[in-house]
Amino acid sequence: MFGKIEHLGIAVKDLEQSNTLFTKLLGRPPYKQEAVESEHVITSFFLSGENKIELLQATSPESAIAKYIEKKGEGIHHIAFDVSDIYAEIERLKAEGFHLINETPKSGADNKLIAFLHPKGTNGVLIELCMEKP
Ligand code: ZN
Repeated sequence: MFGKIEHLGIAVKDLEQSNTLFTKLLGRPPYKQEAVESEHVITSFFLSGENKIELLQATSPESAIAKYIEKKGEGIHHIAFDVSDIYAEIERLKAEGFHLINETPKSGADNKLIAFLHPKGTNGVLIELCMEKP
């Protein structure tokens, strides 16, 4: 089942600069910074009330974030939804005709299993499914 929005992902060019900016904006520093080697990104996470914001900076031109920024510039990159069973949701969404970028969940930042839906099938919005690792 889909739950709350787990976080919003924002693509940034310079994580250090954006950390300073979002610290000023939200009035508190990021609670976590983490490299995700498989995705060639470094991320930082902020809390605003119960809501999470993930900033992502590419560490290689191969990174999806680097390609996104090249095409569209900085900005909101994805919306992540909390799901109770990522395996069941992948099967359900496939059956509904959605195009999954990841048919098998992979390890993401912040101790999550994640999978992305292709934005072509979701009104141009990249959707991330997110489940706390068991
Ligand atoms: Zn994310």
